[in-house]
Amino acid sequence: MEKERVIIIGSGPAGLTAAIYSARATLDPLLFVGSQLGGQISITAEVENYPGFPDPDITGPDLVDRMYRQAERFGTRFEYDEVTEVDFTNGPPFFIKTTSKEFQADSVIVTAGASPRRLGVPGEEEFIGRGVSFCATCDGFFFRGKDVVVIGGGDSALEEGLFLTKFANKVRVIHRRDELRAGPFLRQRAFSHDKIEFIWDTVLDGINGNGMVSSVDLRNVKTSKVDQLSTDGVFIYVGHFPNSKFLEGQLAMDEHGYIIADEKMRSSVGGVFAAGEIQDSYFRQIATSVGQGCAAAMQCEKWLSQQE
Ligand code: NAP
Repeated sequence: MEKERVIIIGSGPAGLTAAIYSARATLDPLLFVGSQLGGQISITAEVENYPGFPDPDITGPDLVDRMYRQAERFGTRFEYDEVTEVDFTNGPPFFIKTTSKEFQADSVIVTAGASPRRLGVPGEEEFIGRGVSFCATCDGFFFRGKDVVVIGGGDSALEEGLFLTKFANKVRVIHRRDELRAGPFLRQRAFSHDKIEFIWDTVLDGINGNGMVSSVDLRNVKTSKVDQLSTDGVFIYVGHFPNSKFLEGQLAMDEHGYIIADEKMRSSVGGVFAAGEIQDSYFRQIATSVGQGCAAAMQCEKWLSQQE
C-alpha cells in the first residue's frame, strides 16, 4: 500500500480549496470525491453572494467546475469513491478505506460536508423522485406549470422557492412559525413575488399520492386544524446534518455530530484537519467553507514540515 502525503475527504468548496492550496504547496494531494462532485453547491441553482461573480449568471455547478479545474491544473488526483471507514488511532500513518480500496496517509483533511435533513413524515421516503425533492435545481424543470410546496423558512427554502417560480405555477412556502429565519434580501424578494404564497404556523404531517404526489396533510400548530392541500411537488429545506458517521469514535464531535476543530482547523487528532460544513453548523457559506479549506491546507502543510 503506497502512502500519500495528504488525503482530502470530500469535494465541496472546502475540499476543492484545500486541494488547490495543498497541490500548489507540492503535496500531491489525493482527493476522495464522495457521492457528488462539489457537494451541496452542485445542487444549488444560483450563487449570488460568492465574491468575484457580480453577474447573476453563475450557477452552483459552474462554480464547482471552475474549482475542480483549478485543483486539477495544479496536480490534484481525484478518486471517485466514497470513504467508508477510517483508522486515525495510532497515526500517522492514517488508514482510509473506500468501498473498494485501502489507503495510507501522513495527514488528512476532512471536508465531507453536510446533507439535507429529512422530516420523517409518512410519504417522504416513498415519494422521493415522484414529487418529493431536496433539490430544486435538479428537479424544478419537471414542475413546469404545476403547483408545489416548499417546507422551511430559512435561506435555502426561499432561495430554492424563488428558483422554482421559473417553472411552477404557484409556490407555497410552508413554515412552522410566523417569522422567517431567512435573511432580509431573500425575504423581500419572496414577499414581493406574485407566484409565492406563505402558509404560516404550519407543519407537514404527511404526503399523499398514488404513484406521484397529489396532496399534503398540513396542521396549523396554533389552532391544531388539519387541512389537505393539493400539490404536485414537495421541496424540503429544513436544515442539514453533518456527514460524519464514518468518523464516529475517531475524532471528537459535538452532540449533533459536527467535528470539533479549533481556529486553525485542527481536529482532536494531530495531523487530521477539518474544514467546511462538517465542522461548521453556524456560517455555512461557500465563502466561509473556501476560507476554512484554505486554512486547513496551510496548517496541514505546516504540520507535515514540522514532522520532517
Ligand atoms: P436553516 O437556516 O437551518 O433553516 C431551516 C429551516 O427549516 C428553518 O426555518 C426551520 O424552522 C425549518 N425547520 C427545521 N426543522 C423543521 C421541521 N422539523 N419541520 C418544519 N420546519 C423545520 O437551513 P438552510 O435554510 O438550509 O440554511 C443553512 C445555512 O446555509 C444558513 O446559515 C443559511 O444562511 C445558509 N444559506 C445561505 C444562502 C445564501 O446566503 N444565499 C442560501 C442557502 C443557505 P425555524 O426557523 O422555526 O427553526
